[in-house]
Amino acid sequence: MDAKQARELVKSEWDTLVGLTVDLVRAPTENRIPHGDEINGQKILADFFSGCAVDIDSFEPDKVSGISDHPDWWRGRDYTDRPNLIVTRRATSKGGRSLVFNGHMDTVTRAPLPWKSGDPFSGAVRDGKLFGRGSYDMKAGVAACAMVIKIIAEKGIETGGDIILQSVVDEENAGANGTLAAILKGHVGALAIIPEPTNLKVCPQTRGGQVFELIAEGAGGVAYGGETIRNPISTLSEAIVMLGQYETDINAKPHPGLFATECHPRDLVFSKLMAGDSPGGNIGIPIEARVEFFIQTLPGMIEGELHGELRQALAPMLSNNAAPLRLEPTSRYLSGADTPADNVGVITLLEALTAVTGKTQNTAGATFGGDGYLFNKWTSTPSVHLGPLGGNAHGSDEFVDLESLEILTTTLLMHAVNWSL
Ligand SMILES: [Zn+2]
Repeated sequence: MDAKQARELVKSEWDTLVGLTVDLVRAPTENRIPHGDEINGQKILADFFSGCAVDIDSFEPDKVSGISDHPDWWRGRDYTDRPNLIVTRRATSKGGRSLVFNGHMDTVTRAPLPWKSGDPFSGAVRDGKLFGRGSYDMKAGVAACAMVIKIIAEKGIETGGDIILQSVVDEENAGANGTLAAILKGHVGALAIIPEPTNLKVCPQTRGGQVFELIAEGAGGVAYGGETIRNPISTLSEAIVMLGQYETDINAKPHPGLFATECHPRDLVFSKLMAGDSPGGNIGIPIEARVEFFIQTLPGMIEGELHGELRQALAPMLSNNAAPLRLEPTSRYLSGADTPADNVGVITLLEALTAVTGKTQNTAGATFGGDGYLFNKWTSTPSVHLGPLGGNAHGSDEFVDLESLEILTTTLLMHAVNWSL
């Protein structure tokens, strides 16, 4: 299939594709740890394929045999009514390569409110943009993959390998159990494409990372008797300054793979700050102060290395008994996905994107982490990311750019057909 044929097929289904994306955005699927509402979107996706010659497998992640003993199973989540949905268009001939599309149906919550663009689940289309929570991260990507499979199935296009869509639950907040369940259930292939929002860059490698809390403790109260009371807020502010220096230092070091030319590939993001009784409460020193932060890592770094790096950066404070400070991880460790840039699946995807856009395309390192590393870590399926343009992921007024959705879908269709022959 060439780019022109793929473009015509996608154009002929354009209203259907935009309609599916709007429907998915209008169905809130917020990840509310330990729960989540992905089922609203999975129902829409299942309906989209009704009457289509595909196989459907639907299962909750914790129902997969043996999964709770897997080293990458993250405990504490509730998967009641949170099914993965796997759609498979079976090969029509033998000898080709199979392809997996992986996308998450959950979104972060609608916060921060309010949104200037309207209701967070409006699905409003204006000036070539589609607004709403999850539009960019990553319901447009899921819709693109679903459209590719539906076109292949309904037009009777021959494929020599299965084309699979894993619409998984619980990716946000370093979930990853949904993708792990899909893998352990056997829904793997010769290549996994993940349409997370990469702004139309082909990204075989991603950042990883982990969420931590720093907790400072003290006696609390007010020093009316002239005694010295260490204020945990002061302890925490010193530690925050140290972490700022740590971020500068780690980014000044050489970086691996596709991140080598980036000057700041490892963000440290402070996300929550808590101390004292609020609202109300007494005037006085609190007994505790906490800060939550997320630190990005690059492919090749293991969890122990990250912990060692952080402990070294905070060493003088962590060993100071006069001002107690603890460092605790509060999420799983996400490794960076590390598919080589010269992998054949990456090269053919680049070629398809080049043909569709008419511009030479190069690989890049993704600015985020996600489930992709699970394919690299536990299967022989290399993972590569390619998703649409847009903005405000995890913020208010999230949107996806519709022209890029057309380019993405066309590229994925052309690649899927040629790859699987
Ligand atoms: Zn995402």
